[in-house]
Amino acid sequence: MRIAFIGLGNMGSGMAANLAKDKHEVHAFDLNAAALEKAAANGCTIAASTPAAVKKAEAVITMLPAGTHVREVYESEVLGTAPKSAILIDCSTIDVATAREVEADAQAKGYAMVDAPVSGGIAAAEAGSLTFMVGGSEDGFARAEPILEKMGKAVIYAGGPGAGQAAKICNNMLLGASMIATCETFVLARNLGLDLQTFFDIASKASGQNWSMTSYCPIPGVGPETPADRDYEGGFAAALMLKDLRLAMEAAASVDSYTPMGSAAEELYARFAKLGGSTKDFSAIIKMLDDSWPKPPPPELNGF
Ligand code: NAD
Repeated sequence: MRIAFIGLGNMGSGMAANLAKDKHEVHAFDLNAAALEKAAANGCTIAASTPAAVKKAEAVITMLPAGTHVREVYESEVLGTAPKSAILIDCSTIDVATAREVEADAQAKGYAMVDAPVSGGIAAAEAGSLTFMVGGSEDGFARAEPILEKMGKAVIYAGGPGAGQAAKICNNMLLGASMIATCETFVLARNLGLDLQTFFDIASKASGQNWSMTSYCPIPGVGPETPADRDYEGGFAAALMLKDLRLAMEAAASVDSYTPMGSAAEELYARFAKLGGSTKDFSAIIKMLDDSWPKPPPPELNGF
């Protein structure tokens, strides 16, 4: 199949490589020259621009930073240039409203389009073990599914246009809030004199059990190997968790949904980012909760 792949960053690079490995003809484009070089080394054909990549495509996949990029790329460079028979698949994490607007525009111009954001980070993108949550028509899903299967371990239909994005931000709001709850619980357990491995063994078999603890424990040396064992490097950056929590709060406001825990999680990750935690794994927020994070001097004292 001839596939145009736009956006070859941390995630798109591995995803495009897996399609090329599966013998698809991948025509790739990114604004970044280094990303293009890496894609060429991974078996993709480099296109000179997005319009050149999508011109004869049977499928178009985008993996871009945010809603503004997605709108711009589809409205200026894909719709009207790609053949109408191409299935359009946006895998970026963006706001639900933009996803619905771009999909409606694509449909009005005669295209089938789905939103298919992913769960799983850079390692899962490289290993082809992402989980895709797909929104759009059932027909669009049926056309996208065999392509997405080559990049993931699960491809799940979430509902109509924007439903993939809605599922993604709801999942990540739950993840952000449960990670903070897990971190503060372990800090309290330590302050109460509990041995943390012992508490892990108890809570893993009791009603406090949750993924943030048993699969992604924020305590070094406890539970399976996680970013905590690598000084919180790699994994899912706190900046991306903050991005997803902001999208969740925006979506909650749009439907007047009361989300006090999601709102608290957003505020705490924003504070953590201000303290310099953006590039650390999101479980590193424990450093702010147990007060071990070295805090920068307040801005007014800089230079004194
Ligand atoms: P990234 O910034 O590494 O990659 C985005 C790429 O898009 C960059 O290489 C950039 O040059 C390119 N780009 C931007 N505008 C473009 C344009 N107009 N035309 C062509 N290329 C353009 O981001 P990422 O980490 O790969 O994330 C991509 C998306 O996946 C985001 O929406 C993110 O929220 C989501 N996501 C990321 C992770 C993760 O762990 N990194 C996990 C799940 C979901």
